Amino acid sequence: MIRLDRPATTAKDAYDKAVASIRDSSARKPYASASVAVIRLCSDYDETARIGMWAGLTSVLFEVPGVTDTEMVDLYDKRFRRSVRTKEIRNAILNAPSRKRCPYCGEGCVSELDHYLPKTRFSAITVYPANLVPACHECNCAKLDYSPENGKPAVLHPYFDRAFDLHWLVASLNPSDEGPILEFAVSQKVADPALRVRLETHLDVFKLRDRFRVWASRLLDKESQQLINGYSRKRTTLRFTASEAQNHFLDLAHLESDRVANSWEGATYQAMAESDWYIKDYLRLI
Ligand SMILES: [Zn+2]
Repeated sequence: MIRLDRPATTAKDAYDKAVASIRDSSARKPYASASVAVIRLCSDYDETARIGMWAGLTSVLFEVPGVTDTEMVDLYDKRFRRSVRTKEIRNAILNAPSRKRCPYCGEGCVSELDHYLPKTRFSAITVYPANLVPACHECNCAKLDYSPENGKPAVLHPYFDRAFDLHWLVASLNPSDEGPILEFAVSQKVADPALRVRLETHLDVFKLRDRFRVWASRLLDKESQQLINGYSRKRTTLRFTASEAQNHFLDLAHLESDRVANSWEGATYQAMAESDWYIKDYLRLI
């Protein structure tokens, strides 16, 4: 999970360019007339996001005078998403993450734009860049039109939430009949109950507990095989002791954590280092 700088494009620039791509002047007119109201509502969205007051949010407040919700969705689907006038804005958002890593999961490759607040319900911000988050297909499909309304907690917002920089993702390694099983969770060190609920929600909405477990299982299998069989180096086989394996995993955990605060790799290596059962009983290192 990765924090991003918010897009540099202003609400006015994005909206004006999307509206300018409507060729029919009579069809364009109601959108143009609503410009001031749209920009004011984008500013309201900024304020909500900045203070993190998603509770109490209601989509009724984001209705655009003189333009229906369907017409605002069309402005995104038929204009902003396709027009050459807005191509530069779209590409700037899609290409913002380093190595195109999806900010929601920190792993998938960015392929599409997600509306943080769904376009079908928050019509005023359908083309507002600060509401458009670059995402991988899996995250976008998992989230769908999830919205922090009616008391539902908000997922983390890559442009506004500081929780991306805290270390809160942990994993535990537990024995099972099929070998080690990894469970991902929010660290007990997160004391703020409201933040805790949001972090749990983020894991749940994007199905990250299951997705992380699948990815981490492959890493776990690879590392386990190397430790059981030994590392081949110049015709010799190196074998780690239990404490060497522990330090090896701790080093890898720190490397990963320095790269991204809450990566599933970092949490996995940390869990491997901390599990006596895994090191001594499963890997049989002494
Ligand atoms: Zn993703």
